[in-house]
Amino acid sequence: MSTLLEMSGVSVSFDGFKAINNLSFQIGEPELRAIIGPNGAGKTTFMDIITGKTKPDEGRISWGDKNISLLGMSESQIAREGIGRKFQKPTVFEAQTVRENLAMALKNPRGPFDVLLYKKTRQGAERIEAIAEQTGLADVLTRVAGELSHGQKQWLEIGMLLAQEPRLLLVDEPAAGMTPAEREKTTEMLVNAAKTRAVVVVEHDMEFIRRLKCRVTCLCEGSVLAEGSIDHVTSNPNVIDVYLGR
Ligand code: ADP
Repeated sequence: MSTLLEMSGVSVSFDGFKAINNLSFQIGEPELRAIIGPNGAGKTTFMDIITGKTKPDEGRISWGDKNISLLGMSESQIAREGIGRKFQKPTVFEAQTVRENLAMALKNPRGPFDVLLYKKTRQGAERIEAIAEQTGLADVLTRVAGELSHGQKQWLEIGMLLAQEPRLLLVDEPAAGMTPAEREKTTEMLVNAAKTRAVVVVEHDMEFIRRLKCRVTCLCEGSVLAEGSIDHVTSNPNVIDVYLGR
């Protein structure tokens, strides 16, 4: 596993308040990572920094095989580098079918040319079907997205992100509002997605995180409070103090 993204000494202040404080973080390719921490710990700001929405006041973020810096890049340049983000609330095209939603997101392997044509090729259609299979949507490809369950909409959005073939996928609270069966499917989906790319999951549901069987980073006051296996992190007295409660 090689390092894909490395953040070091990153800080961000809002009106003098340090939301991210000298944060260092590394993720490999492929790797699945869970981020936990109390409200206000800096989890959203951390993702905003990676996607370029928020620019740090200090620190470095290097990316990819050539260790290029993400700091001088715009949000759209960063997205083109292969960093995708899923927000908590699913945003899909409700009036379009699942197939159409996936087709809209599909990346042409030959570059950003003829993308409309690519979607209509057999290769494009097969890619859509493979993603639908991967996200548990193979049976609902012809359904209008607005008719899907909450869980299925979340999966569709994950599928749309996978269709863009990101190297790093950031996923915010994927299990929120899901039934236990949907949660289990989501776990499987994320574990599979992380076999070929880096996936960062921000989540409060500790049982869900336990099932991801991955390295966990606990943030607090904008810094890493503990990092390691779920058992290592959840038995840390500081994590118990500030997050899990006694
Ligand atoms: P989390 O996602 O872990 O709940 P956030 O990253 O949203 O934490 O926030 C970290 C801290 O930074 C919080 O105290 C929050 O109030 C503050 N903060 C975040 N964004 C802004 C902003 N745009 N302006 C002012 N304060 C902010």
